[in-house]
Amino acid sequence: MAEQASNCLFCKIAAREVDAKIVHESDNVVAFRDVNPQAPTHILLIPKDHIESVAAIGPSQAKLLAEIMASATHLAKAEGLEGGWRLVTNVGPDAGQSVQHLHFHLLGGRKFRWPPG
Ligand code: 5GP
Ligand code: ZN
Repeated sequence: MAEQASNCLFCKIAAREVDAKIVHESDNVVAFRDVNPQAPTHILLIPKDHIESVAAIGPSQAKLLAEIMASATHLAKAEGLEGGWRLVTNVGPDAGQSVQHLHFHLLGGRKFRWPPG
């Protein structure tokens, strides 16, 4: 069983207590479409365990992180993002983190600017 936090939206999505368009799932990771997409492909990849952000990641989660990265690559291929894609994670209020459960945004299907806003 995944370690859930009470009243965490993404824990609830991982536990299927809140609906989401899930596009990939393993024992440790879930990926689902963002409800407010910022690009033609906008998928969120999360660990099933409640981890607040990438700032709470330690060496014991190395395998989990590698699995999330590999899942992002797999999904980018499945979405046909041959032209490129972006993987972003926001940490804390200045970066605009609005859900306090680690998530990586997989974005693609259009050209992105750099630096981001
Ligand atoms: P953050 O701003 O924390 O980096 O990203 C949170 C993301 O979660 C936002 O892109 C937002 O659109 C998405 N989001 C918020 N609530 C829901 C929801 O209930 N379902 C889905 N699928 N995405 C959500
Ligand atoms: Zn959570």
